[in-house]
Amino acid sequence: MKLILTFTPGKFTFNCTKCAKCCFPAELSLTAREFNFLSKVADRKERFIFIADIPFSYKLRVKGRCPFLDENKLCKIYKNRPIVCISFPLTFEYLPDGRLFVNFIRCEGVGVGDQIVDMDFVLKTIDEIKQRDPSFFDSLLINKLYKNPFVPFYTHDEYVSYDSKLSFNKFLAKMVKDYSRNQYNPRTYLHSFILTIRQAIETALNMKKHSGDLHRSLIFDEEAEALKDEINSYYSQKFEENFKVIDHYIEEAEDIARKTRVCEIYLDGKVKKLRIDEHVKLSTALNHSDVAEFQVSQIYFRKNFEEEAFNFIVDYISEVLVRVGLGGFPIDAPLYIVLDVLGEYINNIEFQCNLYSGKSNVVTLKEAKRAIEDLDTNFALGSIYNARERTFTF
Ligand code: SF4
Ligand code: SF4
Repeated sequence: MKLILTFTPGKFTFNCTKCAKCCFPAELSLTAREFNFLSKVADRKERFIFIADIPFSYKLRVKGRCPFLDENKLCKIYKNRPIVCISFPLTFEYLPDGRLFVNFIRCEGVGVGDQIVDMDFVLKTIDEIKQRDPSFFDSLLINKLYKNPFVPFYTHDEYVSYDSKLSFNKFLAKMVKDYSRNQYNPRTYLHSFILTIRQAIETALNMKKHSGDLHRSLIFDEEAEALKDEINSYYSQKFEENFKVIDHYIEEAEDIARKTRVCEIYLDGKVKKLRIDEHVKLSTALNHSDVAEFQVSQIYFRKNFEEEAFNFIVDYISEVLVRVGLGGFPIDAPLYIVLDVLGEYINNIEFQCNLYSGKSNVVTLKEAKRAIEDLDTNFALGSIYNARERTFTF
């Protein structure tokens, strides 16, 4: 088993705070053995769906609080809890060549206690999973081979390899950090980053192929290295200009909202027109959160971020770009999907930061950490990833 950690080993400590935030998933993936056990103790049979994939042949529909979580936030079936619960905050994903990628989710227990998250921590979790089901990792790999043989995606007779895609994501992960100096608002910075990367790729691909098919944004193996240079050069020339465009665009929307007292906001999966003085209750966001009601103006207008808070968010985005599988940007997806999902991530992060900082105009490191912890737990558990998954095939 060749393990690749997508986080820096030894950088974090972890101790479960028993906050139970990981017990509010959209759904739980179950092996056949887990289904057999849980279907006997579950209150309602219709919660389960058969999906015929190994090793997770079943799903338990949850969308909120897990039915096995008791009033004291303890798992009623702890000794028999599913493998996905044993593994958390780690998530595992094979590439078809047998490399097993391990992501580390930034849940509430990260940074707590003195248990170091290193290779030993990962091996201990793998052992625990194997004790529960010795064939689990073999099945995970077989499923990957069966569903997705060898290339993340291809068109006609051209294809992009995983290594090429990973290397490109690493390149983006470095760039997002390199250009983040002296920036304090994540929405303005990261949307400027996304816009400039899109333009840089489109320009570079056009120069090479004159294809006009800008939407595909595939980076083919043979052109990847040269493209990085072209993107770097385009980026260094255009970033400032794009930053001003994005900044101006957001400022204009904020000015209109101040004058008309109405704004458009993405809430509960839809763009809604709301009055900025209105008080709104969240219906589908993080159900475990104690902050559910807010005034629209508190989350709509940009706030200043403490430098540490901003850097924390950029570090997280940079790490998520190189994660593989749940909790990361989809390695199997074309780049334009990755950039779309990145845009959604950042909107969600800023929304949550603004929410947690309440009436204050400054987002602190503590609030940024809390936003990332809650969202990463939620993302890792599948909400955004699942919602997007259906659009990946083309
Ligand atoms: S979210 Fe993290 S800290 Fe909270 S209960 Fe789950 S594993 Fe423990
Ligand atoms: S089975 Fe237990 S550990 Fe897993 S989500 Fe439900 S309550 Fe939490």
